Amino acid sequence: MARPQQRLAANAAGPFYVDRTCIDCGTCWQFDPAHFAPTGRTSHVWAQPQGEGEIRAALLALQACPVAAIGTARELLAQSPADGFPALITSLPEGEVHYGGWASRKSFGASSWLITRRQADGRHDNVLIDSPRWSGALARRIEALGGVRRILLSHRDDVADHGAWAQRFGAERWIHAADADAAPDAEHRIEGLEPVALEDDLLVLPVPGHTAGSVAVLFAGQVLFSGDHLWWGVEPPGVVASRRYCWWNWQEQVRSVQRLLDLDVRWLLPGHGRWHHFAPGEWRRELEATLARVGARVGAREDRGGEP
Ligand code: SF4
Repeated sequence: MARPQQRLAANAAGPFYVDRTCIDCGTCWQFDPAHFAPTGRTSHVWAQPQGEGEIRAALLALQACPVAAIGTARELLAQSPADGFPALITSLPEGEVHYGGWASRKSFGASSWLITRRQADGRHDNVLIDSPRWSGALARRIEALGGVRRILLSHRDDVADHGAWAQRFGAERWIHAADADAAPDAEHRIEGLEPVALEDDLLVLPVPGHTAGSVAVLFAGQVLFSGDHLWWGVEPPGVVASRRYCWWNWQEQVRSVQRLLDLDVRWLLPGHGRWHHFAPGEWRRELEATLARVGARVGAREDRGGEP
């Protein structure tokens, strides 16, 4: 629980604050950039929420924080929404896409996502991408949305409480074989580099690089759940493939980015970093710009004698 005595000096004056226990995971400012922002090694409240809607958003950021580093007045805490997560991101003919909230410290606050949809016979056919932290309140909300049939794990870092979610809903889990030691109980392994179609509109795309077993998930041909392979950055704006946060093989990660060029992604929903909505055709232009940026850096490093 956040402590007022540990309130960071960078916070704007007012009831909401971030305290010293912040691990700078980014969850709060990705979800509620109108009130939270990065400071450097922590985050802070840069503007106090005003009015019911803004206070609700800040209370949900508080709920999502994986280490309870956000605090506020007791009377505002009492207004915490019980139905805030999963939070709807977009509604498509194929199904609805939600942000899971309730980030886990085990995955350094990584985002999880829920696709809700029905099969032709009307049965729920929901898919959880990566794992939020276990929460009975969230489980009740997900149950009301039809539960979870499949859990797709993007890579070894973001598996968090997958076992508890799988058990609660009787869901089957998928993970790439190269990261499978992080979730040894997972029922299914993805092998190699070839895309795997779980359904016509649900494609698992191996994207090794960040880790050996990283995968992205493409839903409805336009929503890309990218794990830590790619995310949207704001300074400068654009799709980010990060060498700094590449834990396995940077050249492989760049090749994995190249294999995504021919998609027409409209929603990029990552594990870390901001999510983004693209106009038709914008994805390719943005990804080419990303490749140009990282290509320059790769060349520069090789000129200096190769890998660090
Ligand atoms: S969600 Fe919590 S831990 Fe993460 S950046 Fe915000 S305050 Fe810090």
